Amino acid sequence: MSESATGDGGGATGDAGDARQVTGDAGQVTGGVSRVAVGAGDGTRAVRAGLPEAVKYEPTLPGPVFAAHYHLPGDPTGPYTYGRDENPTWTLLERAVGELEAPGQDGAETLVFASGMAAISAVLFSQLRTGDVCVLPDDGYQALPLVRAQLEAYGIEVRTAPTGGDAQLDVLDGAKLLWIETPSNPGLDVCDIRRLAEAAHARGAVVAVDNTLATPLGQRPLELGADFAVASGTKQLTGHGDVLLGYVVGRDAQAMAAVRRWRKIVGAIPGPMEAWLAHRSIATLQMRVDRQSATALAVAEVLRERPEVTALRYPGLPDDPAHRIASQQMRRYGSVVSFTLPTRARADRFLEALRLVDDATSFGGVRSTAERRGRWGGDSVPEGFIRLSVGAEDPEDLVADLLRALDASAD
Ligand SMILES: *Cc1c(COP(=O)(O)O)cnc(C)c1O
Repeated sequence: MSESATGDGGGATGDAGDARQVTGDAGQVTGGVSRVAVGAGDGTRAVRAGLPEAVKYEPTLPGPVFAAHYHLPGDPTGPYTYGRDENPTWTLLERAVGELEAPGQDGAETLVFASGMAAISAVLFSQLRTGDVCVLPDDGYQALPLVRAQLEAYGIEVRTAPTGGDAQLDVLDGAKLLWIETPSNPGLDVCDIRRLAEAAHARGAVVAVDNTLATPLGQRPLELGADFAVASGTKQLTGHGDVLLGYVVGRDAQAMAAVRRWRKIVGAIPGPMEAWLAHRSIATLQMRVDRQSATALAVAEVLRERPEVTALRYPGLPDDPAHRIASQQMRRYGSVVSFTLPTRARADRFLEALRLVDDATSFGGVRSTAERRGRWGGDSVPEGFIRLSVGAEDPEDLVADLLRALDASAD
């Protein structure tokens, strides 16, 4: 029976060509979605996000559906035809992400991708044409310069400006698309999404926000006026350092149809196992983000007392330059703290001396990581610049480890 192959998630999904049925108004989806009030708390919404309606003897979260194709007699219409176009495990994950990024926004649609870069590229390359102008941050994710070069190779003009001080406002004239990354990675500057979105819209530009660092529990760009919320699910969203994933949430059906078409022609799709792991991980998102944000603030407060630590940034610190805007548009400040040690050698010794913090890239995971960001060569940061991602360890253990490593690495 082909219905059972797609599960009750599957029967629930409507026409793949119109995913608003899937991610938007859960009520019109036949087969049922577990409904959680839009106004419920973040923890409640996270644990129930995207779950299908309860069906006797069915699992609460159906396992990954491994399928390259589906039984498809007759006319090849959806929801499930070929595995590059749709998959029931993605459908449930897309609902979950949509419920968190755009609660109550019936027209919003979510698409998941193989990685954050796949999601970012899908928006930029599906929306922009030769001759268009695109505004990027100059202090954003380190792969953005590669994206810039590719956009320019296609005849798209790219302008850049810093995230801090809403400096992108000054280069918006004539732009077709504004790309915002706030808080920025790794510098942790913050810009005013609402202000930038209003200015961009007044000039006819669409606005996309990279929401990787904040997660949808930290800020909801669509509610702040953005047209797209885009993120790497590789980081805090999934939080265990074992999955690469990305997503795009958008409010305009035509724009999202182009993003969907891009996913189809590039084929940058997540595996069912990754999609399922991500969905499973979202259940603990509120606990992880709350815990990690609280510990990150405690860590920042301790580090700022150390004389060898300079340029400490954490948007949750009341006297951080980003705090005023962050406190207006963010509900949680995230797990990343950045700071600079006097020299490259000192930073290397510090990382080496840490016992509870892995020297590794990426961030947002339950196990703390830190790295000397300058080792990649892509960011304009000082040699001693450290990006620290605070995990879910006991705060006092982590603080003790950091202080011990600072002492042990002193000249
Ligand atoms: C990691 C990251 C990306 C890229 O995500 P991948 O899943 O590694 O492709 C994009 N933006 C930001 C802000 C990131 O931190």
